[in-house]
This record gives sequence, structure tokens and C-alpha cells, in this order.
Amino acid sequence: TDTDTSDEAVRATCDDATTCKRFATSKGYWKDPYIQHFARSVGERKAPEINRGYYARVQGVNHLLDAFIRKTERDCQVINLGAGLDTTFWRLKDENLLPRKFFEVDFPTVVARKIHNIKTKPPLSKPIIETHSTDSLLLDAHSLDSDHYCIIGADLRDISNLDEKLKKFQLNPELPTLLLSECVLVYMTPSQSSNLVHWAADTFHTAMFVNYEQKERFLKTGWAHADALDMMTIYSVLPQDDVARIERLEFLDEKELLQQLLQHYSICWATKDKLNLGNAQIYS
Ligand code: SAM
Repeated sequence: TDTDTSDEAVRATCDDATTCKRFATSKGYWKDPYIQHFARSVGERKAPEINRGYYARVQGVNHLLDAFIRKTERDCQVINLGAGLDTTFWRLKDENLLPRKFFEVDFPTVVARKIHNIKTKPPLSKPIIETHSTDSLLLDAHSLDSDHYCIIGADLRDISNLDEKLKKFQLNPELPTLLLSECVLVYMTPSQSSNLVHWAADTFHTAMFVNYEQKERFLKTGWAHADALDMMTIYSVLPQDDVARIERLEFLDEKELLQQLLQHYSICWATKDKLNLGNAQIYS
């Protein structure tokens, strides 16, 4: 059917993101020793403005995520919606920033691929086994569940199924929760993404929703507070010594091209804060 074909194209976007991130890390924009296990090769050269755009995206999202985890002293959970082949779990483990539980959701076929990679590559599986205390680690073709890391195959447009599966794997609505969607909502209709954002607002009393994508589409249904910064602004507030370092990596002829690119995207975040963590002020 048409839906199957277009869903297949959506699923393939996780490889684009991974390939671009792998290329940028191979150039030294940031470090990610795990991404090589998810992208077969470095791939063809990407333009410097693309690499800088990914740099701002990854650093900007990490900044919000790490600030939330620190603020809650790791007594929180993270749900990466449409996680694709993202490697954040391993970075957090290495940086001693693992939340109580890190959930990822993507289509079952993407999840099956990710789990296959984890199963067959010890640098990916070892940290999961190391952080798991009992012998009840669940690892089958469509789900992985350990003490701190859980991957679930589900369609984000089917909210009741999503909710049911997350609860089956011990999602705790009482814990401060960070939801992340990085280039994901854009693949749904406005009403589908609105349902998802609404579900999150209804489910958690203390939470932050971080969304990276094109500027116009942010929805603040049911959230107490929302903010957005375009990527040009994010780029200018990232640690400037590191920005100076990456700007020396590759010559960029047309600065205007980068500006235009960054202005089209933004990081938005919405918060609700019954526990008074102060998570609305997290970026300052
Ligand atoms: N967030 C990852 C990143 O930034 O590296 C992957 C981004 S990729 C552009 C979009 C991801 O969202 C894909 O892995 C795709 O399968 C997933 N996705 C999109 N729509 C989805 C849906 N309805 N249900 C589950 N996953 C979905």
C-alpha cells in the first residue's frame, strides 16, 4: 500500500541521520566511538555547513538532555521517540549520567536492526550487560529490556499501543521524564504529532519535551511552558572555544549558507513542573 511505501521511506531516514553524524565525527566535530557500529562506512563527503548544522543539533540537544539529568540527579527517565540508531545511551553510560531508565521507541523493523547490531557487537552489548543486575535481561528480535536501557518497537501514531508497551516495560509516570524527538514529528500529520505531545503532557506531571526540527511546527498542547530557539541562536550560545575549534576543521566559504540553514531549524522545549525542579529555566 501507499502507507507502507511512505513508512519505508520514513524508516530509511534513520540511516541518513546516522551517516551524516558518522561523517561529522570522522572529521572531529564531536566524539562518538559507538556510531561506527551503526553506519557501515563513513560514506561520501558532506558539505561543511551540513557538518556544522549536525554539530549544533547534537550539542544543543545534548546540552538540554544533560542539564535535565543533572538537575534530577539521575533520578529520572528519558524517552527517545523515533530514536533510530541514536547512540546517546552509550554516551550517558560513559559520562556517568545514566538516568534510572532510558527508553527508545521506533518502528519494529528499525528496532530489529538496532538490536541485531547490539547483539553482534561487544562494544555495544557490554555496557548494557554491565549495568544490568539480574539475569533477566530480555533480548529478542523486537525488544530489549535491561535495568537501565529499553528499546521498544512501536508506531508513534498509535498512542494506546505506545502507552501500553511503555508501561509493560516499567515506565513510571511519577518520575521526572525527558521526552526527546529529534527530526521525528515532521514525519507525522499535525494531528498525529499533536496527539503524541498531548499524551506526554497527560501522562507525566514533571517533564520536559525536547523537539528538534523545522521551526514552524512546534505544538504546546497541554504544556505549562514552552520555548524555542532557532539553531543560529543555539550555535551562538554553545561554548565558543569549542565552536572556534570546529570552525577550524574545515574551510567554509559561504558563511551565509550556514546561516540560512541554521535559521530553518530550531530546538523547542516544553515543560511542566509539579515537583518544582526549575526545569523551565534549564537553558540559562
Ligand atoms: N532521532 C534519530 C536521530 O536524530 O538520529 C533518528 C531521526 S530519523 C530522521 C527519524 C526516525 O523517526 C526514524 O528512525 C523513523 O523510523 C522514526 N519514526 C518516524 N515516524 C515514526 C512513527 N510513526 N513511529 C515510530 N518511529 C517513527
